[in-house]
Amino acid sequence: MGQSFNLQGILQSFRVLASPHLMVPNIVVRDIRDISFEQLHKAGITAIAFDKDNCLTKPYGLELYPPFTDAWKRCRDIYKDQVVIVSNSAGTPDDKDNQQAHAIEQSLQVNVLRHHEKKPSGGQELLNHFGGIKAERIAFVGDRALTDVVFGNNYGMLTILTRDVVTEEGDNPMALRIRRMEHKVLAFLDRVNIKAKPHPIPIDLHAVVLQSPPAPESKEEVKADLAAEDLRKKEAKESVEREARFERSKRPSAR
Ligand SMILES: [Mg+2]
Repeated sequence: MGQSFNLQGILQSFRVLASPHLMVPNIVVRDIRDISFEQLHKAGITAIAFDKDNCLTKPYGLELYPPFTDAWKRCRDIYKDQVVIVSNSAGTPDDKDNQQAHAIEQSLQVNVLRHHEKKPSGGQELLNHFGGIKAERIAFVGDRALTDVVFGNNYGMLTILTRDVVTEEGDNPMALRIRRMEHKVLAFLDRVNIKAKPHPIPIDLHAVVLQSPPAPESKEEVKADLAAEDLRKKEAKESVEREARFERSKRPSAR
């Protein structure tokens, strides 16, 4: 069920080094509950696409994270069939017979894009899905700056970053580390005043975002993150040692 090696993603990361504003979202929210889909639609955003893992579901999950139920219903009521999920696992060639895509469509009640290129590449496949809708009229919502935000910004969509992930438990360890690094880089870019390219459609952020956007991470938060990471490593090491001791204890002793 894992996500395979994403070469395009790595190549795109080098593009971001030359143009760091590509990873800066137009809007930051805590999670999808902060988005007023009604106001977003009124502002002229006529279609919306979402990342899945840690934006709508737990990592590799097939069910909506229950606290998002009301927000997800509001989104579907307003956007109707102009909502789609763009995942880097479900609906890609990694998803055998599109089994995951079908399961998610059943459970979340929206289409999952069938696509060949992984985010941050493949924007054209999303534009084709939405037919004649211009990129600037599409919002892309996701939790990852280097995949979701770069994907949307590359094509001039409105990009919305969800900063509070559903859970780090069970997440791909590499994705987890990179996301934390992205948050630090975004905080740095904010300090040096590197902003997202202004979106062509004027949007009243106070109307669209129900709560004020989270402030960039403070030094204390970064320290707390590092301490939590150390603790996790220590616990993982202890667990491996415990298992090894248990395995040794099961072996018959040599005569
Ligand atoms: Mg995600």
